[in-house]
Amino acid sequence: AVRNPGEAEFHEAVAGVLTTLAPVLEQHPEYQDEAILERIVEPERVIHFRVPWIDDEGTYHVNRGYRVQFNSALGPYKGGIRFHPTVSASIVKFLGFEQIFKNALTGQQIGGGKGGSDFNPAGRSNTEIMRFCQSFMTGLYRNIGASMDIPAGDIGVGGREVGYMYGQYKRLVGQFEAGVLTGKGVGWGGSRVRTEATGYGLVAFTREMLKTRGEDLEDQTVSVSGSGNVAIYAIERLIQLGARPVTFSDSSGWVYDADGVDLDLLKEIKEVYRGRVADYVEERPRAEFHQRGSIWDVPVDIALPSAVQHEINADHARALIKNGVKAVAEGSNMSTTADGVDVFDDSDILYGPGKAANAGGVAVSALEMQQNSARQSWTAEDVAGRLDAIMEDIHTQCAEHSMQYTGRPDNYVAGSNAAGFVRVADAMIAQGLV
Ligand code: NDP
Repeated sequence: AVRNPGEAEFHEAVAGVLTTLAPVLEQHPEYQDEAILERIVEPERVIHFRVPWIDDEGTYHVNRGYRVQFNSALGPYKGGIRFHPTVSASIVKFLGFEQIFKNALTGQQIGGGKGGSDFNPAGRSNTEIMRFCQSFMTGLYRNIGASMDIPAGDIGVGGREVGYMYGQYKRLVGQFEAGVLTGKGVGWGGSRVRTEATGYGLVAFTREMLKTRGEDLEDQTVSVSGSGNVAIYAIERLIQLGARPVTFSDSSGWVYDADGVDLDLLKEIKEVYRGRVADYVEERPRAEFHQRGSIWDVPVDIALPSAVQHEINADHARALIKNGVKAVAEGSNMSTTADGVDVFDDSDILYGPGKAANAGGVAVSALEMQQNSARQSWTAEDVAGRLDAIMEDIHTQCAEHSMQYTGRPDNYVAGSNAAGFVRVADAMIAQGLV
């Protein structure tokens, strides 16, 4: 806190990891001897830049751009870019720190990084978004590259924004260096199943957790929050596997559809004409739109928070448990507050933290990098099969490390932190004092 004043989210993320690592450090004195903790909490590099742009009325704006290159022990920095008014140095550092361990869990050769801007894309025209993306990339392009740092999308940055940023990068460096960004369009270097990857991976991780208790997804009722990339494809995969998703949300409110979410309608609203979730109930009169109350009060078997950080607090966690939830898996990063995590920890429900449960997106980004290096384009079946295998492996690693360090197989918080940390720490030691 003294070295990073005012960075509350970053402190929380670091505390969340470090508090679970005591047994790991006991079994590995070399990590303490070689100051791994002191090094791992310090980003290798932080880039902070000005993003000036002009709106459609000719008014000047200046936003802040960030890129934190946190750790390259396992590969080039890799992590998304977020455009949201809440983006700050603290938010980017918290996300970048978590990304190190998440990326390690995927088993791929990717280090950890994250970026973003406090730009608010809400209500901006397509040309404003394009100009902003071009200015953002003009500030960033010197510091990224296919073997150096590979950004991707996150909140507020989808295929359209990645496309505009890639176009500007190409223009600035004069080369078609496909591997510099992931989340590209499938026709020009993107991977099939990248759009679906985080949501599909989240459902795969949930399925693996349920398997340990002899259950599957068939006929389970599920609450999902958010209605963006992660939420929509989690809902799609749940429906494919016979589950019944009944909620979704955006920053204006949440929808409860007891009949099960009509995915085609939701996609049309959010992906085609970029509307609000309230539009859904106009077409589905039996569904309810709520601006008050909590989405987590809906009684469900499974909850998949997939909107923003801190969307579940201790009261929400208690309400979910009281209503009989069996499993909670995080699509969003740091979905649950620290005291909410304590509530889940003290219960016997299955709780999959984001760094394990939502790693499917970055895993397929790593597969996109592989396809770019080889100048190949794999089939959807191929990528989806690899994604499933990676999520199963992440679950196994979490369970094994949980067993090794806590004596029980289902402490996914401790298991994911330990598994990610050990892989990074061993690589850092092997590479000397860097
Ligand atoms: P999107 O921008 O596509 O969607 C975010 C969704 O969350 C939108 O529906 C947004 O609504 C909603 N939202 C924002 N604030 C609130 C709020 N206060 N209450 C309810 N809903 C809200 O982002 P993604 O789906 O890509 O990302 C969602 C989360 O998943 C983030 O935490 C991200 O870091 C994480 N994640 C994403 C990955 C990916 O591959 N995309 C990979 C791993 C993690 P509105 O339109 O009103 O803002």
